[in-house]
Order: sequence, then structure tokens, then C-alpha cells
Amino acid sequence: MSPFEYAPAPESAAVVDIASSYGLFIGGQFVPATGGTPFKTVNPATEEVLAEISEASSDDVDAAVAAARTAYTRVWSRMSGADRGKYLFRIARILQERAREFAVLETLDNGKPIKESRDVDLPLAAAHFFYHAGWADKLDYASLGPNPRPVGVVGQIVPWNFPLLMLAWKVAPALACGNTVVLKPAETTPLTALLFAEVCQQADLPPGVVNIITGAGPTGQAIVDHPGIDKLAFTGSTAVGKMIARSIAGTRKRATLELGGKAANIIFDDAPIDQAVEGIVNGIFFNQGHVCCAGSRILVQENIAEDLDRRLKRRLATLRVGDPMDKNTDVGAINSRKQLDRIEEMVAVGETEGAQRWDSGCELPTNGFWFRPTVFSGVSQTHRIAQEEIFGPVVSVLTFRTPAEAVAKANNTPYGLSAGVWTEKGSRILWMADQLRAGVVWANTFNKFDPTSPFGGYKESGYGREGGRHGLEAYVTTAGPLERASGADRSKGASK
Ligand code: NDP
Repeated sequence: MSPFEYAPAPESAAVVDIASSYGLFIGGQFVPATGGTPFKTVNPATEEVLAEISEASSDDVDAAVAAARTAYTRVWSRMSGADRGKYLFRIARILQERAREFAVLETLDNGKPIKESRDVDLPLAAAHFFYHAGWADKLDYASLGPNPRPVGVVGQIVPWNFPLLMLAWKVAPALACGNTVVLKPAETTPLTALLFAEVCQQADLPPGVVNIITGAGPTGQAIVDHPGIDKLAFTGSTAVGKMIARSIAGTRKRATLELGGKAANIIFDDAPIDQAVEGIVNGIFFNQGHVCCAGSRILVQENIAEDLDRRLKRRLATLRVGDPMDKNTDVGAINSRKQLDRIEEMVAVGETEGAQRWDSGCELPTNGFWFRPTVFSGVSQTHRIAQEEIFGPVVSVLTFRTPAEAVAKANNTPYGLSAGVWTEKGSRILWMADQLRAGVVWANTFNKFDPTSPFGGYKESGYGREGGRHGLEAYVTTAGPLERASGADRSKGASK
């Protein structure tokens, strides 16, 4: 072994107890599904089957919505904000206590490196519950409007890239505001949501406040179409987001949609170049690039393009791709065969369109789904790899000469979720942030998340915000003038 090779540092899978099959979590207990066809969830790093998962039928969706409605009317919407907050604090603390178990399970089911599930997903998921626990009894002071009250029963559909974290983004604000939820995790990553159901039991959460039902697209569609749902919260592809928007048009349902992105990570010639390289690596190779706000387009000022290219490739050659359970791994497995096929298809398109492909050439494991960190240079604005979400460890490099050109190119996509700016000039950062049509603009950093900070997009990246005070708005309704004039009973108010 050379002095610079890493010894293996495997995390132990023995800290989790995975059942051979799972039912649905409805009304506070696990129940068998009625009618659906069970499916398997696999470890994408090995293709081993982890467990058999139930498919919720429309009857099961009905039962989950009914349980959520009963819990909403009889218990949760009547409870004081201070008491709701206590449950949320309890959930947050349990997540911290069981963090290792959750992190291992997330890595086994999703393929992301253990150091990311341990250091990012879990701390942030707990932080979302802590943060929203604090709001539960202060909603009257959150500038949400007069007498903020819960919306009702919320349908929540989350994707596979941050399974537990996206659950936390959705469940914590909904519960803090007095709503009850029916949540569906993605077909390929249901296990941490099912473990979260156990946390709800452990926290003595009243039955029916959180219901977790598993299945694929049709189960999600049944939630979307259910007449008992008052609000939908969805994170996933723009295509499915558009279908949801069409399905609920003309109904009373509200929705927040957090969809795709094609973020520009903009590097000016006065940027601290080595830090910018780290920012690029974090921007696109974190979580295998399965990140809606990933910095998947580098816009680099022309006079430093060659230097950046050299430094970036030198850095990428050091990334460790492989066993996600090894604590030294930087890039784990692609989440599914379907996603790997999509990445391969888009990379082939990039080559056909004439961009130059480079990859790190690292060795890949023989089983499982893998893709090497890849850089495309010579990319132009019209290339599909500069316009469409690839959702994998693939970055496209484009150049610019002036700040105005950088802005024009950065904004030239159907999306508008995030962007990064790297420069020493504070005034330029502020000017760029003002010009960029992106919900989040990071300056001299990338992929920084905090529950106090609202997150969401422009254009086809969706609508509504999650996190921060703004994220609460989607989960409350406020009194109209008539109700205010009559001094309506506030005993059922969201924050009393
Ligand atoms: P989807 O949008 O299909 O999946 C997101 C969630 O929506 C999953 O829980 C999925 O269920 C569910 N779903 C699927 N169809 C419907 C429907 N008709 N009604 C309601 N819910 C539905 O994403 P994919 O997994 O197909 O990924 C495709 C592409 O989407 C990726 O390549 C990536 O570009 C993008 N994507 C973006 C994400 C983001 O965070 N912005 C997250 C995930 C994907 P199930 O998975 O069980 O079928």
C-alpha cells in the first residue's frame, strides 16, 4: 500500500434492523395494504434486496386520508401551539439519538456516502424539526396575516435523492402549523420514511397526525386526486410537477412544487481559484449530483478557463468513488438502474452534440449502479446538456467574458432554482444576485442549507418556498375581513 492510499473504514450495517417486509403506517400503526402489488427496495451499491414494500391502493390512500382527517379535526388542529411544539421537539431529539441508525439506513437504501448521510442529511433533518418546533406557538408573530390557522390534511410526495431530509422539510412545517399529513416516499427509497413512522410512535404522536404510505407513481397520483386533501407539497421532476398542477387546476387544493434545476456556478477571474474548485466539486459531485440545486453548469471567465480546467480535473482524479458505507468515500452509487440509464443517455447526447467528454477514469465496483465524475467542455448554450437536468455526477463547462454575458447565459434555461457566484468583489456579488433569476444565490460557497432560509424556485423550478418564515405560509390560512370583524373564535387558531 502506498503511503497515500486509504485503509478501508467501513461503517457497520449491523446498527439497523431491516424487516423483511413492511406494511403501511396509517392511523398510528402499521397495517397491511389492500390490493396493491408489493415491490422490492434494493441497495443500489450492491443490487441486494433490502426489503419488500407494500404498494398502497386507492383504498389505502382513502384510509390514510380518513385517518389524517380524524386526527386533524379531533386532536391536532385543536391542540395549543405550545403542545404541538413539544411533540416536534421530541421528534427532533429522537432523530438525533437515532442518527447513526438513520444514516446507515439512508445510505443502504439510497447509495449516498455515509459521510453525507451522517454529516448532512441527519443533522439537517433534526434541525428542521427543532426549528419548526420553535415556531409552533409563535405563528401569530410570523407576519403570516391575521389569525393564522392550519390548512387541513396535506398530501406530501417526496423524491429519492434526500429521502429523510425531504420528509423533514415537509412534515415539520405542516405539523408545526397544525396540519396532519399523508406522505409518500419514493419507490426506490422508502426505508427511512418507514423508520420515521416508528419515531412517531416513539414520540407518542397522536395516531393519524402522520401517515406514511408507500408505492410508485399511481399511489402518488391517488393522493393528488383525493378529494379529502387540502394541500399538496411535491418535490420531484418538472414533468410530474406539471401533471400535478394540471390535475388540481379548478379544485380548491393548494400546492407547492419544488422541481428541477440547472444551476449556473459562475467563476470570475478574481475568484479564489482553489476554493472555487472545491465549490464546484461540492456543487455537482455532492450526493452523486442527485441534487435539484446542483451546480451542473460551470460558467467560467474565459481568461481563466484553461487554468480552472486543469485544476478541476486534477482534483476530480482524487475523488474516491465506491462503497457508500466506507467513511472515506466521496461519491457513492447512482440511486437506481433507471437513473443510471438516464445519465448515460444524456452523456451520449452531449458527445453527439460535439462537447468534449472527460472522466476521472477511476475504477468502479462490478455490482451496483455507478458513474464516474464527468466533465464536458466546449459546451454551448444550445446543447441539451446545458439546458436539461442530468441529475448525476456530470458537469458542463461554458465560458463568458463580461458579467452581463454571465447573467444572460445563467438565466438562459427553463429553470431558476439556484446559482453560485465566485468573486472577490462584494458589489459584483450583490449586482449578480439581483440579476440572476434563481431562488437561491450562493456567494463564494455552494449547497449551503439551513432550516431558517427559504428555498424554492422561479420558472419551471416550481413555486412556493420551503424553510424559514416564508415556508410556513404554505401551511396556514388566514382570516378574511368578515371573520376578523366578527371576532371569530380563536380557540382553534394555529398558534394558540
Ligand atoms: P419523479 O418526479 O417521478 O419522482 C418524484 C416523486 O413523485 C416520487 O415519489 C414518485 O414516486 C412520485 N410520482 C411519480 N409519478 C407521480 C404522479 N403521476 N403523481 C404523483 N406522484 C408521482 O422523479 P423520477 O424519480 O422519475 O426522476 C426523473 C428525473 O426527475 C430525474 O432524472 C431528475 O432530473 C428529476 N428529479 C428531480 C428531483 C428534485 O429534487 N427536483 C428529485 C427527483 C427527480 P415513485 O418514485 O415512487 O414512482
